[in-house]
Amino acid sequence: MSIPMIKVPSYIMKLPYSQQEVKYRPYVVREEKLLIMANESEDVAVVMDAVGDVIKACTFDAIDIKTAPLFDVQYAFLQIRGKSIGEILEFNCICGECEARMPVAIAVNEFKMKTTPGHTNKIQLDDNFHVTMKYPTFQHFTKLYVDENSDQNVYEVLAECIESIYTEDEVFTNTGNNHQDFRDFVENLTVPQFEKLENFFVTMPILEKIIEYACVECNRKNIISIDGITNRIGKFTSMGKRGVHRVIDSTSRKRKSKSRIGIAHGSV
Ligand SMILES: [Zn+2]
Repeated sequence: MSIPMIKVPSYIMKLPYSQQEVKYRPYVVREEKLLIMANESEDVAVVMDAVGDVIKACTFDAIDIKTAPLFDVQYAFLQIRGKSIGEILEFNCICGECEARMPVAIAVNEFKMKTTPGHTNKIQLDDNFHVTMKYPTFQHFTKLYVDENSDQNVYEVLAECIESIYTEDEVFTNTGNNHQDFRDFVENLTVPQFEKLENFFVTMPILEKIIEYACVECNRKNIISIDGITNRIGKFTSMGKRGVHRVIDSTSRKRKSKSRIGIAHGSV
């Protein structure tokens, strides 16, 4: 006779972008172990993979990380994390100047959707051409982290995120089968046109918590943005030359004194 498993509680959340109601459960210790191991690898792609698997399992396959926009996935992971290990997440911020650590505690509900005024998914490229964009998915985000220096991935993701290309009298819709055409289109843009597309990602809504503090050791002002998934804010924003700060997430498993390692970009 097999031992019955204790029933894991379930909850309902409403995703901020799609407004979809999703049933979810906390992650169990087996899944937490996967997350801790992934974090210890300090490989962002491995972390994103593990997070993706856990989100899928904990939402009973309701969230498809292949298609869900990034900020819905961020939100879902924060809610799951809150119910799994507590609503307060603890991080150690590392000063960008002297590397002194400062512990901070952030409640799950302190992560807010950051929106940029004027952000639009319709982008005019010149007098004749405009495009409509769709938001990158969690998988796109992962793709950009696989090789941080890979310009190829940036082109790839940009091409995949163009929904349609409009001229004065024609519309070309991205069906997935004509990917190469979209890819060629992107690679033939002028630099200012390309930057207009990049700007769509830089200004898109994102869930984040900004921490500003003066270092107790060297008095330098640190501004750190934590995205709640990788403890790191997007590749797209890192296209700008910003200082790099690190954040160590120490919420999980204090009794084993394991810490989760993440990296956050910040600016000074
Ligand atoms: Zn310092």
